[in-house]
Amino acid sequence: MKAKEWISDLRVYEPGKPLEEVARELGFGDLTEIVKVASNENELGPSPMAMKAMQETISEMHRYPDGGAFYLKGKLADKLGVDPENLLFGCGSNELIVFLCHVFLRQGMNLVMGAEAFAVYFLAAAMYEGKAIRIPMPEHVHDLDAMLTAITPETRLVAICNPNNPTGTMVSPEAIDCFIEKLPEHVVAIFDEAYFEVMPEHMKPDVLKHIRAGKENIIVLRTFSKAYGLAGLRIGYAIGHPKLIGLLNKVRQPFNVNGMAQAAAMAALDDVPHIVQTREMVFQGLEFFARELPKLGLETVPSGANFILVKTGNGREVFERLQKLKVIVRPMDPYGLPDHIRITIGTPEQNQTILNALKAVRV
Ligand SMILES: *Cc1c(COP(=O)(O)O)cnc(C)c1O
Repeated sequence: MKAKEWISDLRVYEPGKPLEEVARELGFGDLTEIVKVASNENELGPSPMAMKAMQETISEMHRYPDGGAFYLKGKLADKLGVDPENLLFGCGSNELIVFLCHVFLRQGMNLVMGAEAFAVYFLAAAMYEGKAIRIPMPEHVHDLDAMLTAITPETRLVAICNPNNPTGTMVSPEAIDCFIEKLPEHVVAIFDEAYFEVMPEHMKPDVLKHIRAGKENIIVLRTFSKAYGLAGLRIGYAIGHPKLIGLLNKVRQPFNVNGMAQAAAMAALDDVPHIVQTREMVFQGLEFFARELPKLGLETVPSGANFILVKTGNGREVFERLQKLKVIVRPMDPYGLPDHIRITIGTPEQNQTILNALKAVRV
C-alpha cells in the first residue's frame, strides 16, 4: 500500500472511552453511579420533545432522509432570521469543519487558529495537506489581533471558537465586529459557536447581522450536540452567504444528515423549556465550581460554555485518580495544558459528587 503521506502521518483524534469500557476496566458494576463529564454533553439528557419525535419516526427509517433537510432548514431559517439558502447541515458541526478544509485547503495553504483551540481544526487541515498556524492565547483567550497579523497570502481559513473548547474563554461582541471589519477578503473566518445557547446573554456575538448584510467570507457553525443534548445523533449547521454555502454543498454527500436527527432537531427547536433549564443548570454549575474550587486551592478559567477548565497540576494523574472514584473528566495534555483538566457542568448532584472526588484526590 502507498497511502498519501499526509494521511498516514495524521494524528487521530482521541475521544473519551465508552462508559461501558471504562466501567469494565475498573470493575464497576453499576454504570448509573458513574459521573461522565468528559465530552461537554448535556447532563439533562435530550429534549423530551426530541425523544418523542424520534420515537414517532422509527417506522420511517427504511426511507432515505430528505437530503436537503427542507423542513428543518425552513424552520431554522425562520428562527435565526436568515434565508434557507444561508444554511447547510452536517453530520455534526465537525463534518462542516472538514467541508471547509476540503474546499479551501491544499498543500501550501494554511489555517490560522488558537494554540489552545478545538483540535478538530488542526486535524481537518492536515487531512487536506493544509498547515495549521497556531497562535498563542494569553490567559487562554483568542488573541484576535495576533491572528489577523498571522494571516499570510496563503491563508485560506481562520477559526475562532467562541466560547473556545477546551478553555471556555470568550471574545467580546465588539472585538468580533472589529475583527470582521479588518478581515482580508482572501480569507474565510469561521466562528465556531458550538456553545452559543448557553453563553451569557451580554457576551453573545451577532455574527449573523454581517451575514444578513451580505458579507461573503464569514461562516458561523452551531450544533445540536451541546445545549440541545443530541450529540449521539450527529447534527450541526453552518450559517453563511449562499455563495459560500454553495461551495460547501459541493463536497457534501447527499444523505449526510440522517432522518432521525432531522426529526429530533425539528422538535428540539420548539422545546424552549429544555433550553431554559439547560442554561440554568449550566449557569448554576459554573457559579458553583468558580466558588468552590478556589477553596481547594484550584484555579479555574472563567467560562462561557457548559464546561470549566481547572488547573489541578498533573491533569493526567488527577484524571486517573478521579476515574477510580467513578468521575470521568478530560485530561488536557493533548492541548498542551498538562496541568489542567476539563470538567463538563452536570446536575447539582453530579457537581457535588465531582467536588467531593476532587477533594479526595488532592495531592
Ligand atoms: C463539540 C464541539 C464541536 C462539534 O460538535 P458536533 O458534535 O460535531 O456538532 C465543534 N466545535 C467546538 C468548539 C466544540 O466544542
